[in-house]
Amino acid sequence: MTGKIFRAILTVALIVLVISLLTVTGFLYDYFGTIQEKELRDQLNFAAVGTEALGISFLEKLRGENYRLTLIQEDGRVLFDTDADPQTVENHRDREEIQQAFWGGTGHSSRYSSTLTEKTTYEAVRLTDGTVLRISVSHYTSWLLLLGMIQPVLIIGLLAAVLSGLLASSMAKKVVAPLNTLDLEHPLENDTYPELSPLLHRIHVQHQEIEIQIKNLQQKNNEFQLVTDNMGEGLVLLNENGIVLTINTAAKKIFQTDDNCIGEDFLTVDRKQDLHNSISQALETGHCSLKSCRNNREYNFDINRIESEGKVLGAVMLIFDITLQSEGERRRREFTANVSHELKTPLQSIIGSTELLENNMVQHHDIPRFLGHIKKQATRLLHLIQDILRLSQLDEGIELNRETVDLRSLTEEIIDSLEVSAQEKNIHLNLEGNAHMQGMKSLLYEILYNLIDNGIKYNIPGGDVTVSLQETEKNIVVSVSDTGIGIPEEDHSRVFERFYRVDKSHSKSSGGTGLGLSIVKHGVELHKGQITVESEEKMGTTMTIVFPKSE
Ligand code: ADP
Repeated sequence: MTGKIFRAILTVALIVLVISLLTVTGFLYDYFGTIQEKELRDQLNFAAVGTEALGISFLEKLRGENYRLTLIQEDGRVLFDTDADPQTVENHRDREEIQQAFWGGTGHSSRYSSTLTEKTTYEAVRLTDGTVLRISVSHYTSWLLLLGMIQPVLIIGLLAAVLSGLLASSMAKKVVAPLNTLDLEHPLENDTYPELSPLLHRIHVQHQEIEIQIKNLQQKNNEFQLVTDNMGEGLVLLNENGIVLTINTAAKKIFQTDDNCIGEDFLTVDRKQDLHNSISQALETGHCSLKSCRNNREYNFDINRIESEGKVLGAVMLIFDITLQSEGERRRREFTANVSHELKTPLQSIIGSTELLENNMVQHHDIPRFLGHIKKQATRLLHLIQDILRLSQLDEGIELNRETVDLRSLTEEIIDSLEVSAQEKNIHLNLEGNAHMQGMKSLLYEILYNLIDNGIKYNIPGGDVTVSLQETEKNIVVSVSDTGIGIPEEDHSRVFERFYRVDKSHSKSSGGTGLGLSIVKHGVELHKGQITVESEEKMGTTMTIVFPKSE
C-alpha cells in the first residue's frame, strides 16, 4: 500500500514539476525575448541616429558592446562590422531582415545556429543614405535553457521522491491504523471512515451466513453423534490412508480406546494383523468381512469402501457382537452331537439284545433278564426323548397357564411319587415350611421333581433329602439339600449344561439323562428366578432357587 501511495504522489509531483517547468520556462523565455527585442531596437535607433550624424566613426565606438552592428550598402556588401573584418564577410543582400529594411525601411528576423543551441535575433533599419544598419544579438534557445536546468530539476525530483516516500508512509500508516483496530467480529459497531461502511456491511452479512452454516453443520454433527453413539454396533470411519475420522462409543468400548485416537492411524487403536488385512482388502476390492475375537468376545467386522465420483474416500467399519450367536450355534452343534450319541447308545443296546433273542442265542432262563434290560433301555430312551422335547419346548419359550401354586402340596405330591425309589436307598425325604406363588404348575413340578430326584440319585444309603419352602417379603425361596456325594467346586457352573454329568457312569446307572438340571435352569428363568449351587464333595449339595414375588 505504501508503495502504491508513494508512486501516486511521486508521479503527480513529477508531472506538476515538468508542466510548471515547461510553462514557466516558455513564459519567461517569451517575456525576456520581447524585452530583448525592444532593447535591441532602441540600441539600433541610437546607433542609426549616431551613424547618420557622425558616420562609421560612431559605429567604431560601439565595438565591444554585447551586440553586433553591421552596416550594409545597397548592393549587399558589408561596409562595417563590429565583430568581423568587412572584407571577409559575405554579401548580405539575401538576408531576410536586410531585404525587409531595403524595401520597407525596417527589418526583423531570427535564425537558429546549426546546432540549434543558439538563436540570433536581427533588427535592421535603412539609413537616409540608402545603407542598412543591422543589429544582432545571440542568445541560448529555450531547449538549451531547459537542458541547463536538468541538474536542479533532478535535485528537485529527488527531493520530491524523498518527500513522497515520507508522505506515503505516513499516509499509509494513517489509512491502515484504523483498519488494524477494526473489530471484525462486530463489523457494524466500528466507528471508522464512511468509505468502509459497504465493506463492513458485507462482512456483517457474511458473518451471519457463516453462523447459520456453522449452526446447521453443528446440528448435523450432533445428530450424527447422537445416532452413532446410541448404536449397539461399533462404527469406525477411516480415511483412505487408514486414519481414524470417527469412532462411536460402542467401538471405543470394543477397542478400549478414547477420542484421542481420532486423527491417528488405526494401528494405534488395534494392532491385530487380520483386521488390518481386511481394511486393506476392503479399500482395494470394496468390501471385506471378518470374524475375530476381542476381550473374550466374538465380533463380526463388516468393512465397506466409501467412494465418491470414482475416488476412494475411505472405509466404514461396522462391528457386530456375535458372541451370543456363536455361542448359541456352538451349543446347538454340541447338543445335536450329544443327542445323536445319547440316543444311539440305548438303541444299540436294544438292537443287540433283540438280535440275540431273535437268533435263539439266549438261554431260556436268561430271557427275562434280557427283556428287563431292553425295557430299561427303552425307558431310558423314552425319558431322553421326553427331556429333549421338554427342552425344545422351553427353548421355543412356551408359555403355559400361570396360576397360584401351593408349593407345599406340589412337593408332597412329588415326594409321594419318589417315595419308592427313596426307600430303595433308605433315604429320608423331609419337607419344611410352605409357600404359594404365581407360576406354571407343571413346570414347577418338573423343577422340584428333578431336584429331589437328583438328591436321591446322588445320595448315600441312609442319607437325607430336605426340601425347604420359605416366603419372604419379596421372594419365594425353595431349597433342596441332600447329604450325598456332592459336586466338585470346578463343576458347579457346568452342571446346568446340557448332557453334562460329573460322573457319567453314576448318572447312567441311575437312569439320568444329563438334561435334568438344564430343564430346571430353563424353568427357573422362565419364572424370572435364579438358581445357585452350594456343594462340597462327600458333604452333600444344596440347590437354592429364588423366585421374585412380583413375577
Ligand atoms: P442327570 O440326569 O445325569 O442327573 P442332571 O442335569 O440332573 O443330569 O445333573 C447333571 C449332573 O450334575 C449329574 O450327572 C450329576 O453328576 C450332577 N448332580 C446333579 N445333582 C446332584 C446332586 N444333588 N448331588 C451330586 N451331584 C449332582
